[in-house]
Amino acid sequence: SNMRKNQIKRTKTVCTFCGVGCSFEVWTKDRKILKIEPKHGPVNQISTCVKGKFGYDFVNDQGRLKTPLIRKGDHFVEASWEEAIAFAAEGLRRTKEQFGSDAIGVISSSKITNEENYVIQKFTRQILETNNVDNCSRYCQTPATEGLFRTVGMGGDAGTIDDIASAGLVIIIGANSAEAHPVLASRVKRAHKFFGQKLIVADLRKNEMAERADVYLHPKQGTDQAWLMGVTKYIIDQGWHDEAFITENVNDFEAYYESLTPYTLEYVEEVTGISKAQLIETARMIHEADGTCILWGMGITQNVGGSMSSAAISNLLLVTGNYRRHGAGAYPLRGHNNVQGASDMGTLPNQLPGYQKVADDEARKKFEAAYGVEISPQPGLNHIEMVEGIEKGTIQALYVVGEEMALVDANLNQAHELLSKLPFLIVQDITFSKTASYADVILPGVPSLEKEGTFTNTERRVQRLYQALPEMDNAKYDWWITQQLANALGGDWYYTHPSQIFAEMASLTPLFAQANYDVLANWGSFFWGSNDGASTPLLYTDGFNFPDKKARLAIHEWIEPVKYDAQYDLHLNNGRLLEQFHEGNMTRKSNGLNTRLPVTFVEVSPELAKERHIESGTMVRLVSPFGSVKVPALVTTRVQQNEIFLPMHTRNNEHAVNMLTGAGFDKFTNTPAFKQTKVRMEVLHDK
Ligand code: SF4
Repeated sequence: SNMRKNQIKRTKTVCTFCGVGCSFEVWTKDRKILKIEPKHGPVNQISTCVKGKFGYDFVNDQGRLKTPLIRKGDHFVEASWEEAIAFAAEGLRRTKEQFGSDAIGVISSSKITNEENYVIQKFTRQILETNNVDNCSRYCQTPATEGLFRTVGMGGDAGTIDDIASAGLVIIIGANSAEAHPVLASRVKRAHKFFGQKLIVADLRKNEMAERADVYLHPKQGTDQAWLMGVTKYIIDQGWHDEAFITENVNDFEAYYESLTPYTLEYVEEVTGISKAQLIETARMIHEADGTCILWGMGITQNVGGSMSSAAISNLLLVTGNYRRHGAGAYPLRGHNNVQGASDMGTLPNQLPGYQKVADDEARKKFEAAYGVEISPQPGLNHIEMVEGIEKGTIQALYVVGEEMALVDANLNQAHELLSKLPFLIVQDITFSKTASYADVILPGVPSLEKEGTFTNTERRVQRLYQALPEMDNAKYDWWITQQLANALGGDWYYTHPSQIFAEMASLTPLFAQANYDVLANWGSFFWGSNDGASTPLLYTDGFNFPDKKARLAIHEWIEPVKYDAQYDLHLNNGRLLEQFHEGNMTRKSNGLNTRLPVTFVEVSPELAKERHIESGTMVRLVSPFGSVKVPALVTTRVQQNEIFLPMHTRNNEHAVNMLTGAGFDKFTNTPAFKQTKVRMEVLHDK
């Protein structure tokens, strides 16, 4: 009866935007979204942020893809699903025959469900027979995961958002959480304001949380690893480390301490620009706190030293005994609503679902038996390597699901050139994205409100979403599309509901062994985290994820940041604003959000504005070795000296920050150093 026309229907869903994972009821009447009502959300209770509340206009936007499209010369024609799937499958078959399986790459999405990510990795490994599959964590969070794998053995938040709220001290590094993770940040704001929680923020930009912090650290760009080392060394030198914890739980302490030798307070002050007094104050606050949580984001990870800095965070927590207890630990802040889930489900070139390595014979054999194919023990290509492969001719076809490569890849001029060169491109998306304009065939998927499935938030919490609206026109569930492609290429798939996909995944993935749709029904949650597959809100209670149960301190290695020079004398930082989300393909469709933030701008410090004789509104051109953009300046004390800040949200190429990025990669994960971009600024006074 709920489905009858003209009746108001209420459906539980999980927010489609950030990794906080707010859930709420959406009230709908036919295709109309009447209201978002949070009330039982285990993460958010009765809160949402402005995106969760007003960000859903894109679902009914006229620009939605409503039917499959096939390229005919320089335009697209509408096609039936039979035609489009046959055409897409034929392109893949031809490529595989002519160039081999490894000439095809697959890019999955952090916006689609766990079930859809699972079938995409299965499609890649079983049907295409390659490990060339990756997801957008390659752009953002892989260095954090790498730092955690190296030190504590699992790539997820150590505890829950409740743990963050109950910590004695919260340290936020390189993350604009008040705007990018608003509901989580509000928990910290409340704990700080009313319950005596201490707050340290380290960031290039004085964001809202930095304004509130007890201590605000402003390191020179790319030097976070140095102050983390310096503070850790000072803590050990004072005897403030947790010796009992280290003896019981941690390997490599001596060698690690050795590697800190150069990081005296004097040296760190020189390298980072953070005063000795502030370094000591930070160390003292960690020492005195009843539990420290460190939260970090892309200000750490999107740097050439992203993995090393992430490991440095984990090292500091290990040395001070801030793991294996509530109100403590490492918390990488996942950006997209399902970026955690995409990696959990194995859309990674080196890992099967649940972080089982392709190189692990036992794990691989299990999947080989289930899928009836051989799986290579060699990792496939990551996103960056796939794009490079287009240039080399080793990648001949890509299947891109929901990823706006043509706006979010670093060095966009090059990305556009390579996408236009690629012999065969399948794009599956909900809108006609910039990337879709390069496609040979476009397959229309559906957004979260039009499907069932599960998402996994930043604290490893898996939650179900139910279908609130019918699929728009001829658009289809993303898992259905992948299944059609698989079957057109000889597969034998017969899923009729995401619950079957989840059950298959759980049967092959120890971390999810005890998870199922019943546990997750309605407002239920499951936290992955134990190899016995039980729900595990707090990680490592049974020891760290290594055979001897002991953590490994990562020996420090200094990674030199990207340097400015005479030609490119400014450091360009970038990030999110509250009202928009990423490249804007969803949030730019919302009038409620656009009126709050109508134009793009570059933030310029008062010092720099004075030196260059500009004021708010002056047009400037930013020029990097890779491209240029023209934007108005906004003079603000949020940024200092020669550091400027460009929001990442864009309506078109003109403002895309990624026309400028491309200067380097994290050494261990190939993540682009988006945050380390050197530019010069030309003032266009007459414009
Ligand atoms: Fe959605 Fe994140 Fe806002 Fe919650 S905080 S409503 S998950 S965007």
